[in-house]
Amino acid sequence: MNKPNSDACDDENGNCKVCGHPFDPHLVIAYDSNDLAKGGEMRCQVVDCDCFQTLSFDLSDKGWTKKLNSLLKPPS
Ligand SMILES: [Zn+2]
Ligand SMILES: [Zn+2]
Repeated sequence: MNKPNSDACDDENGNCKVCGHPFDPHLVIAYDSNDLAKGGEMRCQVVDCDCFQTLSFDLSDKGWTKKLNSLLKPPS
């Protein structure tokens, strides 16, 4: 069995494990974008959803790091 990482915030369908909304509209904020090891937080942006999670980024998980980088769009 190829179980998904139990620490991942989204399930295999890309939905948030906490609130079940699609992971994509979630807002991920790193406390320090230069040092992701410090962790961060994630909020759901769906109206009336109060999903909130603190995150510790597993930088050894390449797939997650890549997703994280796409979520943490640099300010333009
Ligand atoms: Zn959520
Ligand atoms: Zn939600």
